[in-house]
Amino acid sequence: MLTIAVSKGRIFEEALPLLASAGIIPIDDPKKCRKLILDTNQEDVKLVIIRATDVPTFVEYGAADLGIAGKDVLIEHGSENLYEPLDLKISTCRLMTAAHVDAPPIGKRIRVATKYVKTAQHYFAAQGIQAEIIKLYGSMELAPLVGLADCIVDLVDTGNTLKANNLEPRDFIMSISSRLIVNKASMKKKHQVIQRLINQMAEAVARQN
Ligand code: AMP
Repeated sequence: MLTIAVSKGRIFEEALPLLASAGIIPIDDPKKCRKLILDTNQEDVKLVIIRATDVPTFVEYGAADLGIAGKDVLIEHGSENLYEPLDLKISTCRLMTAAHVDAPPIGKRIRVATKYVKTAQHYFAAQGIQAEIIKLYGSMELAPLVGLADCIVDLVDTGNTLKANNLEPRDFIMSISSRLIVNKASMKKKHQVIQRLINQMAEAVARQN
């Protein structure tokens, strides 16, 4: 049995062609059904549908052999207990600071709202900026509008979400994409089947780019 952890939404949709190239086609559509374990065309391959931030946890503990997770999530979780053999080059975006369009340049002592606490701490420390980090779980864009923070650290794709809230991107922190991750024990125990899957997905990534 091979279990692959994926989150619903954009990552799932963009991962489908890559999984298909490795011969894995889910039978159910997570948009339409509420099942958390999806069967695939291969009897011994299942997909578990979980929150994006839980994917590394499931894989680390061996509840899933493999997973597909954003680099943003992996950095926050810490990936030393996982293998990360492949950049899938999907769900790409940028991790940026953002502030109100009328706000002054980011100063040396600031308050930052983000769900990326570790990444933000690391980034501002490297810039010599004293940042008080306020952890939020969503709607980060609201924080500068209501005076909770001077700026936010969040993912930016088109920039439309920032624009709609009178915010603008300021500093680029890093490029983000989704990665294939593998449980360390599974990699040993199921080496052949997992290595084949990695190779097939790597070929598909190369073709797509
Ligand atoms: P956009 O308006 O296109 O700049 O998208 C920004 C919103 O979508 C923010 O709320 C982000 O957190 C979210 N977002 C953008 N790209 C991604 C991604 N690759 N993975 C997860 N969330 C994303």
